[in-house]
Amino acid sequence: MSKRDYYDVLGVSKSDDEKAIKKAYRRLAMKYHPDRNPDDEEAAEKFREATEAYDVLTTAEKRAAYDQYGHAGVDGQAGGGYGGGGAGAGGFGDAFGDIFGDIFGGGGGGRHDPNAPQRGSDLRYRLDLNLEEAVHGTTVSIKVPTLIECDSCDGTGSADNAPPMTCTTCGGHGQVRMQQGFFSVQQTCPSCHGRGTLIKNPCRKCRGEGRVQDQKTLSVKIPPGVDTGDRIRLSGEGEAGVNGGPTGDLYVQVSVRQHEIFERDGRDLYCEVPVSFVDAALGGELEVPTLDGRVKLKIPAEAQTGKMFRLRGKGVKPVRGGVQGDLMCKILVETPVNLTERQKELLREFKDSMEDTQGRHSPKTNSWFDSVKKFFEEFKS
Ligand SMILES: [Zn+2]
Ligand SMILES: [Zn+2]
Repeated sequence: MSKRDYYDVLGVSKSDDEKAIKKAYRRLAMKYHPDRNPDDEEAAEKFREATEAYDVLTTAEKRAAYDQYGHAGVDGQAGGGYGGGGAGAGGFGDAFGDIFGDIFGGGGGGRHDPNAPQRGSDLRYRLDLNLEEAVHGTTVSIKVPTLIECDSCDGTGSADNAPPMTCTTCGGHGQVRMQQGFFSVQQTCPSCHGRGTLIKNPCRKCRGEGRVQDQKTLSVKIPPGVDTGDRIRLSGEGEAGVNGGPTGDLYVQVSVRQHEIFERDGRDLYCEVPVSFVDAALGGELEVPTLDGRVKLKIPAEAQTGKMFRLRGKGVKPVRGGVQGDLMCKILVETPVNLTERQKELLREFKDSMEDTQGRHSPKTNSWFDSVKKFFEEFKS
């Protein structure tokens, strides 16, 4: 494919100065920039072509060579001329920067000083507690994997305590411009990994990182009343900072395990208590469990299954303060099993005694049959 004339590409004449060329390129770049024409091959090609023409025509030696020899005068150096990084890229990169800086909002924005102190990362630790621990509070010992300051180099990363030297690859910027085709891309420096400095004689223990992976054991006091989703912040127990930056925090994330007897809903606890049909009928006293031991629950006579009894103040005292919740006991009337002949006989006798009383002992059955009767009557009409 033969190349178009660079002056034609930009729509300028041979006598036009750099300012006019810049202006022409700016207009084309605005139109064909890949950011504005995603997935458009043709626009990408036009942009590439304009950028190439711009580069040649705004570089004095290249323009002179091009004017004299045409494409043959600059081809071959197009790639190498500003592709090698270092000083060559500077001129092109800067022009690129000043053209796009104001169009696309600051080319290299967000670049930070790689030598500035950086705060260590926050860590999160999921702590599983059983209900009793969550309600009463506890002290747990947890092991947290973390990065701590290397003790053999005092965090400097250097084996001989020599101060770090400026990275020669990126000149201390931590970032390098890479040429990909005709696009200039900013990347983290591969030599210093963005730090901007290199350590000549790195510490062997931390390999120059200044921090080492370790596990620390912490004793964490869990206040009474915590619930799933609560976080406890341990200031300064996260990862060590970089370049003398402060240490991050550790967040202990509480998760309360399911309990065999109790279900928790905020400050209230719920449980189900089985009761014999005899106790339910005659009334009685049941022993029910609470998180603070057993208590007596009085069941009135004629209690029906599913009835809820509230034990005030036997719930949870919320971690953020407020009154202690209640324990809600739901009674479940149980059908007796494994009956002896004698017991069955008694029950049959008991049933007979109920026959001629027209259901006055069975309030639910009565109202249920009433409903069924009504249902079928409405069904018929
Ligand atoms: Zn070290
Ligand atoms: Zn570097």
